[in-house]
Amino acid sequence: MIIAVRASQRLDSRGIPTVQVEVETEFGIHRALVPSGASTGKHEAVELRDKVDGVYGGKGVGKAVRNVQEIIGPALVKRGFNPQTQLRDIDRFVRDLDGTPNKANLGANAILGVSMACARAGAASSGIPLYEFLRKEAGIEGPYVMLVPFLNVLNGGVHSGNTMAFQEMMIAAVGATSFEEAMRMGSEVYHRLKQAILDRYGAPATGIGDEGGFAPPVTLPEQALDLLATAVADCGYSEQVKFGIDPASSEFFRGDGSYDLGFKDKSPNILSPADLQQLYNRLLAEYPIVLLEDPFAEDDWHTWAAFNKTCPVELVGDDLLVTNVERVRMADSRKACNSMLLKVNQIGTVTEAIEAASFAFSLGWSVFVSHRSGETTDDFIADLTVGLSTGHLKSGAPCRGERVVKYNRLVDIESELKAAGKTCLYAGAHFRFPSELSV
Ligand code: PEP
Ligand code: MG
Repeated sequence: MIIAVRASQRLDSRGIPTVQVEVETEFGIHRALVPSGASTGKHEAVELRDKVDGVYGGKGVGKAVRNVQEIIGPALVKRGFNPQTQLRDIDRFVRDLDGTPNKANLGANAILGVSMACARAGAASSGIPLYEFLRKEAGIEGPYVMLVPFLNVLNGGVHSGNTMAFQEMMIAAVGATSFEEAMRMGSEVYHRLKQAILDRYGAPATGIGDEGGFAPPVTLPEQALDLLATAVADCGYSEQVKFGIDPASSEFFRGDGSYDLGFKDKSPNILSPADLQQLYNRLLAEYPIVLLEDPFAEDDWHTWAAFNKTCPVELVGDDLLVTNVERVRMADSRKACNSMLLKVNQIGTVTEAIEAASFAFSLGWSVFVSHRSGETTDDFIADLTVGLSTGHLKSGAPCRGERVVKYNRLVDIESELKAAGKTCLYAGAHFRFPSELSV
């Protein structure tokens, strides 16, 4: 039973306020901290900000905190919900309490904090780890799947101060034999990459961006991918380590339907959708890229569908889908992509995020779990990814506490499962479709 719900304002990894929620039950106090994006999709659930001049630059979350303290919390306590068996009911009840389609009234940041803390309370009541609780919630069966970490080692776009339009260049150790080994390879490549940047651009170029990846003074995607290829080859991992890219292209989409790769330093480099498709096809031919996320803008359906006809790799919708079943349905009917990015705060409750994942799986798509660029020390998504057996996750570079807290939790989970003698498979080359793994 929920005895009390409390909320307070804390800071995220960018030093911007965020919501912390505590749900108290007879099994203890269960906390959650809410993440926040920078390259936010316009169809995402609404994050409530105070907009008070002069206080945290208008980014305080006092209203969202009060909504938990004064409205959501008392209503949940009064109804006597049991998080052990009623997470879905709790989420639905709070959605109804909000009463808007995008959680604009109470705020997705308020609602998600409650939902995550209730999930933790449910796991504690059942006496099981969070990943086990979420696995049951999602109805996932079969062996446990340890995911391939996609490590964002080069930061551009709105996540860093360099002139690279593309937001994320990721490495993925698909040839490792365990999650722990994938992290070792990733960390080694990360440090070799630092050396390559140091050699080429000097010490001032080794600073990092919002997600812990380096942000050297590169502009073109080829320059970034060449750096990655050098670091991977120097480590001797060219066979085992592949690349993923998130251009986050809604950020450089222009009203006239074209894209501007020079948007960061206002030196226009305008590409038509056809030019941009050609650029991606060139990159796919020249580099070992296995995943492409948001190559086109959130409502540029036509270009997504055209590209998807021949795209040979995982084509992930982030801003396009916003972890929303309705957007996934739209994308399916237009044959726009083949994978859904899952960010819990895009939709605002844990069970709606699980529903979106289940729907994506039912279409034969992949699901790729993601952190936000504004993160916290909460490691919820580590358990969520194992619970849903998605086969891959991105949580930034193997650097910065708010990023590595998820990766470290995943090493703990892998060790725990192995120590318990449970079948636990590393997704490896099957990261898109881990159900194809054989025991
Ligand atoms: C992303 O675009 O995938 C991302 C993690 O960035 P943000 O959280 O800024 O949306
Ligand atoms: Mg993205």
